[in-house]
Amino acid sequence: MSRIAYVNGRYVPKVEAVVHIEDRGYQFADAVYEVWALFDGKLADPRGHFARLERSLGELRIDLPMSQRALTAVLKETVRRNRIREGLVYLQVSRGVATRDHAFPSPAVPPAVVITVSRVDRAASEARAAKGVAVVTTPETRWGRCDIKTVGLLPNALAKQKAREVGAVEAWFVDDLGLVTEGASSNAWIVDGDGVLRTRDTNANILRGVTRLSLLDLAREAGLKVEERPFTPQEALDAREAFITGAGTLVLPVVKVDGKPVGDGAPGPVAARLRRLYIERAKATAV
Ligand code: PLP
Repeated sequence: MSRIAYVNGRYVPKVEAVVHIEDRGYQFADAVYEVWALFDGKLADPRGHFARLERSLGELRIDLPMSQRALTAVLKETVRRNRIREGLVYLQVSRGVATRDHAFPSPAVPPAVVITVSRVDRAASEARAAKGVAVVTTPETRWGRCDIKTVGLLPNALAKQKAREVGAVEAWFVDDLGLVTEGASSNAWIVDGDGVLRTRDTNANILRGVTRLSLLDLAREAGLKVEERPFTPQEALDAREAFITGAGTLVLPVVKVDGKPVGDGAPGPVAARLRRLYIERAKATAV
């Protein structure tokens, strides 16, 4: 459990951590976020997450609240105060606090910053990866800028709830062409019948997952044939393997889609190998 949160310049007990009722993140989802996996108290994939944070903020014309160096120090101090070594670090930056009006505040107000840390049970997540998880499909209903990591996550929350209610761990959005876009909080992958590793290209309306990007590099280095090309739910069922990636799930085998088995219904060797490679690289490059 996270005991200390960082809120606008102060480290406060989580039970006392509050934001203003006119925070634009609260009223308009006018805020972006980032999530880092934490290995041995260090932030995984730092470059990718900071680059995406700056991009998300830039797309919405929200100022970076402090330099990357200062932000790293604050993130790490929040981790330290929580005494968590294995977990997730959550950062949210909203446009700030202003009397409710859809257009941006003028003059601009300072961005509002919140950081929390949560613990992850690595043994439990390894056990889950060894077993694999189920996903369900759901129609794509999100806005056209899923490349920006905003807190406007209502369709994702509804999709995740749909999954939870049938014992699945993730929901895959499927677009009007019948192609999987991504998961509610992860990117979607298959190893198709020809042994090609496939995940959707980023010209599509998806989040550019940091784990996805690192894994593409690792897979190519490992000599796998990789294609950034979409697939249908049926192609996932016919695939040798399927899996999802994200800071929370790392690389997590998918063994069922809409109640039907993927391939032979068991986690496969490619996902297991990529999970190991990703964790090794993440640990070695964490800051
Ligand atoms: N897609 C969506 C919609 C997500 O919310 C996330 C992570 O939260 C991802 C993909 C995976 O991104 P990352 O690997 O950067 O955690």
